[in-house]
Amino acid sequence: MKSSLVILYHRQPYDEVIEDGKVVYRQKKSPNGIVPTLKGFFSYAEKGTWIAWREVDESEKEEFEPRITSDEEETNYTVLRIGLTKEQVKDFYHITSKEAFWPILHSFPYHFTYESSNWENFREVNRLFAEAACNEAADDALIWIHDYNLWLVPHYIRQIKPDARIAFFHHTPFPSVDIFNILPWREEIINSLLSCDVVGFHIPRYSENFVNVARSLLPVEIVERQPVSGHIIPVGTALAEPEMVTKLKYKNQYVKVDAFPVGTNPDFFLSVLNQPETQQRLKELEAEFEGKKLIIAAGRVDYVKGNKEMLEAFGRLLERRPDLHGNIHFIVSCVSPAAGMRVYEEAQSQIEQLVGQINGHFGRLDWTPILLFTQVIPISELLCYYKISDVCWTTPLRDGLNLVAKEYIITHQGENGVLILSEFVGAAVELANAIQTNPYSTDLMDKAIDRALAMSVEEQKERMQKMYEVVTKYDVKYWGDRLLEVFKELSHEVDE
Ligand code: UDP
Repeated sequence: MKSSLVILYHRQPYDEVIEDGKVVYRQKKSPNGIVPTLKGFFSYAEKGTWIAWREVDESEKEEFEPRITSDEEETNYTVLRIGLTKEQVKDFYHITSKEAFWPILHSFPYHFTYESSNWENFREVNRLFAEAACNEAADDALIWIHDYNLWLVPHYIRQIKPDARIAFFHHTPFPSVDIFNILPWREEIINSLLSCDVVGFHIPRYSENFVNVARSLLPVEIVERQPVSGHIIPVGTALAEPEMVTKLKYKNQYVKVDAFPVGTNPDFFLSVLNQPETQQRLKELEAEFEGKKLIIAAGRVDYVKGNKEMLEAFGRLLERRPDLHGNIHFIVSCVSPAAGMRVYEEAQSQIEQLVGQINGHFGRLDWTPILLFTQVIPISELLCYYKISDVCWTTPLRDGLNLVAKEYIITHQGENGVLILSEFVGAAVELANAIQTNPYSTDLMDKAIDRALAMSVEEQKERMQKMYEVVTKYDVKYWGDRLLEVFKELSHEVDE
């Protein structure tokens, strides 16, 4: 029997670990994030396949088993791995995806390089994914592709299976015309995306950018426009549009355009927080930091995350406010996403240098202002840090959505706590009650942290309650249900 749901996401949904000399597939160590959410969609399907890639070196080639199942749970889906050589991975993932696409998607053209990309290899990897998807999919299956690494897959699927039902979701921002069109392969990418039946984004602004890019490159017609719905707020300068294009026509086929931010899983986080071991740890941390103001920042090391701007703002805060010396800690978790990549190594050493400078300049024997973690903090521990922190400082220069902001709100459950949020993260269009700021402005960053530290408990609670309502109502289940509605009605619509 073929699969009724085929999900293409470049990462495998399991951790591959060696136990007693045998390879076993375990639940991912980090249970948060998009993987568990996507796995949940298989419960609505009769049978499914998850397609990912796996680096396979020469010595493993003979015994590499592309299809695997979980060693921990009964599932109605299998995972099919596309075996790629080390060279293919380097070019497809580290170079084309991370050095060419990533800076463009996040509006950082000066980090963009493309000379070293091997476009033929990118095409080939995408073609392999498309071929595998077509082999797995039943005739009426939904093929759901995730993220920019797989931009050309829809085009190759249409060549093999012209009537396939194809959905695409972007987990990143999508930039404006002037930025996107820097990509030398722009037309090929957009042509591929226009062969989907629905193309989804986190927020309306990204979908509007996509529509404008498509119209700048190809004769695309707008068929339908609708007001922005739900909890997405068209307020502020950097935020969403009051209405968005929801359907396009290109050649003889129709493409739906959708925008809805991914939610988190409040029940999961609260259950972890309420476990006796977590509560015990929380008590220990509360005792350790008693009487201190605490600020938390958590995320990946990445130039788009604005760590430099945030650390410099903290340095200026200590300069302005000697009264805080000895009485405040800034807990910073900055985890490197991939080893051996120059851009991330540079960003990491910049963070370490700045932390060293600030701690060296202001610190005392009995007080270290910034507590830096460069290893992943396990989620149960991270939730404790969120809970004890007076302020969560989340000011990326650009970010598709930002889950940390939502997780902080969940742990505070409508009680006191302040969220400082960059205007340039997707979640800003949902969280009007955060202190929204512009991380490109030193003045506005200073005002935001001053305001957060001075906010009355009443105001904190009022804002937190409103944000808690948004985050718990528009959670991951809401996102999933809404997408299932979209998928149920989805067909490949063409004019004969
Ligand atoms: N995270 C974690 N431990 C850490 C730092 C971060 O588990 O030490 C998790 C955090 O809980 C969040 C995710 O990493 O779920 C980061 O997601 P976000 O959307 O904020 O950023 P992304 O990395 O997807 O750009």
